[in-house]
Amino acid sequence: MRKILFLLVMLCSVVSGVHAEKLITSTLPAKNLVWIIADGMGPELMGFLMEGARSGAMRDYKKDVSAMEHLIRDGEQGLFFNNTQGTIVTDSAAAATQMATGRWSLPGYIGVDYQGNSAENLLELAKQKGKAIGVVSDAYVTDATPAGFTAHAQNRRDKTEIARQQLVLEPEVILGGGKKYFSGENNENLLAKAEQQGYQVVFDKKSLAKVHRGRVLGLFADKGMPMAVETHAYPKTPDLTEMTQKALELLAQDEDGFVLIVEAGKLDWAAHANDAGATLAELKLLDKVIASVRKFADKHPETLMYLNADHDTGLGAFVYQNLDNAGVARKTQQGEVLYKGDVFYGNSATYAKLEKQRRSLYLVEQEMKKLPAEKLTPAFVQKQLSRALGYPVDISEFENLTDVHGLFKQINEQYGFAWATQAHASSVLIGVAYGPGQEQFKGVYHNTEILPKLKNILNFNED
Ligand SMILES: [Zn+2]
Repeated sequence: MRKILFLLVMLCSVVSGVHAEKLITSTLPAKNLVWIIADGMGPELMGFLMEGARSGAMRDYKKDVSAMEHLIRDGEQGLFFNNTQGTIVTDSAAAATQMATGRWSLPGYIGVDYQGNSAENLLELAKQKGKAIGVVSDAYVTDATPAGFTAHAQNRRDKTEIARQQLVLEPEVILGGGKKYFSGENNENLLAKAEQQGYQVVFDKKSLAKVHRGRVLGLFADKGMPMAVETHAYPKTPDLTEMTQKALELLAQDEDGFVLIVEAGKLDWAAHANDAGATLAELKLLDKVIASVRKFADKHPETLMYLNADHDTGLGAFVYQNLDNAGVARKTQQGEVLYKGDVFYGNSATYAKLEKQRRSLYLVEQEMKKLPAEKLTPAFVQKQLSRALGYPVDISEFENLTDVHGLFKQINEQYGFAWATQAHASSVLIGVAYGPGQEQFKGVYHNTEILPKLKNILNFNED
């Protein structure tokens, strides 16, 4: 065993919000790995959260910056590319596959290389080394990201097959949505099979809290779990932080260490929908997860924490706007100071406004689409939107109320938040490592180079 000593200077956050330096010594190899994958989190979305926290305009961030910013300050970070074999833009399946296996793949592929060959993944390797393994996702556990680490299939849509393979791999912890793919028609009754395999199968927050040892399969929604912005309506459903904490509690009982993959999956959905408020809510939830894993890593310094994304989604950011007369009048009325009298450069108070949102605009859109056109009167739409956004919305300037997505886009743009696309973008991504071996994540790399680094840090290369 290699004994590489390194010093990790970290800033330890204390209750008062004051930061004191603490010196921690740790050795390679790392015993545990917690890898948090924020689905769709381009650099601009990291900035969106961190800037809001820095501004002091958001709840929970009045006294301190984000946990994400602390992790970046105290850890090591680099940029990495995510293109696949022959494509510039990726999807979640190829991205997860390339990260999990270190092999070049193609969009849609799960755990197979671009030629269709099954490729060994990080969790399989970890299991061979005697480590406990786990996957947590607040989308569904058979979703492309967790699937890339737990299954092999040429089609990411083959979710019942992915579920079946997950139980063959037998991770100690499987938590997320996707109950539908483990039960019902078209597949074996996987839930009964899981129980025979010794899994404690749970469906709500309370039953999950009661699990303190052994294996757990927790499925908390038929498909995806509730959007962060809507969790107030689901008191019986654990959130990503609670699932992650439970996973850590269970996996840390293995003396050989563990590898845990955590997907913050709904960030991608919020960004696909070009919904700034829902995106911010997902980012804030992610930040809570980062803080709680950080706490664990500081208590167990033999743990490497790695935070990254699979691809960028939406390209959303604050932009400045040249206002027309009506816009100038409105902004002036709101007390804004405008550059040159007619340019609006954004205002951090917008963060407080975005935090009022109570519903996902995508779900509101789905509901509105089901209604007959004559129901979509300006008064009705205005009422629905004001309820969803948590503040009175003025839609008097909108002409086509049946173009609900266009309407949402304009509402985002009213406060200076613009999205470039509803699709994925090829942006270079940020990876942040914290713990033993963190310095290996400095610089520029490709997502197929992550696995070799981790194998090195976890000492998976030696027999
Ligand atoms: Zn994705």
